[in-house]
Parts: sequence; C-alpha cells; structure tokens
Amino acid sequence: MKHQYTIELLFHFNCSTCNNWWSYASTPNCLSGSIEYNSLPENIDYYCPHCGVAEKVEVKEGFLNKKT
Ligand SMILES: [Zn+2]
Repeated sequence: MKHQYTIELLFHFNCSTCNNWWSYASTPNCLSGSIEYNSLPENIDYYCPHCGVAEKVEVKEGFLNKKT
C-alpha cells in the first residue's frame, strides 16, 4: 500500500482598504504548471470578508521574484 496525498494551493490576500487578511484554498489546475498558470483571474472583483469592499487582485509585488 502507498500513502496518498492531494495538493492544495493556498492564496493569501491582504485587503487594500481595511488591511485585514484572509486565505482561499483551491486545487491546482495542473501539477506541472508554473505559479503564473495557477494564478487567480485578475479581471473580476474579489470581496474582502472583513469589510466587504470589492477590488481586483494582483500578485503581491516582489513575490514571483523571491528566491527559494
Ligand atoms: Zn477589507
């Protein structure tokens, strides 16, 4: 028998209005895809669960250039 696993992408958001944070979990579209392939759509509004403001999203500046 083998251990089984699944994969989860966990997105972390920071609200541009109230500065609170929240997370959103998703299943990856493709295991071999780049991080850009699994990015969220940037042309729709996302609602802050704390204050309710709706805004577009973008990847946090500098995140994709981080060295691992
Ligand atoms: Zn907010």
